[in-house]
Amino acid sequence: MSILKIATRIAKTPETLPGGEFGGKGSFVLPPEHKAGIEVPKGGSSCANCKFGEAKDDGPHCNNIYWIEWNGGDAKLPVEDPSTYCSDWWSSK
Ligand code: SF4
Repeated sequence: MSILKIATRIAKTPETLPGGEFGGKGSFVLPPEHKAGIEVPKGGSSCANCKFGEAKDDGPHCNNIYWIEWNGGDAKLPVEDPSTYCSDWWSSK
């Protein structure tokens, strides 16, 4: 596939966002299999060390409005252990 065809294909992908934003010099392109929130191995970035994470009586929650929107309006995290989940909206405490 030629570079032009690849560039055209990327430009039509909904996951492609304008260049010059998000801290980079070029377009921000997410691969088709990308998910904004996933289960992760313990020891790295996770809801447990994110400023938006909060423990509640019914389990861990996220207070980030963008994640809640992505999750269909539900703030409850899909795991019991907040050190096993992370999302694109992670932010250091
Ligand atoms: S913003 Fe992401 S990493 Fe932080 S608590 Fe919410 S889901 Fe977890």
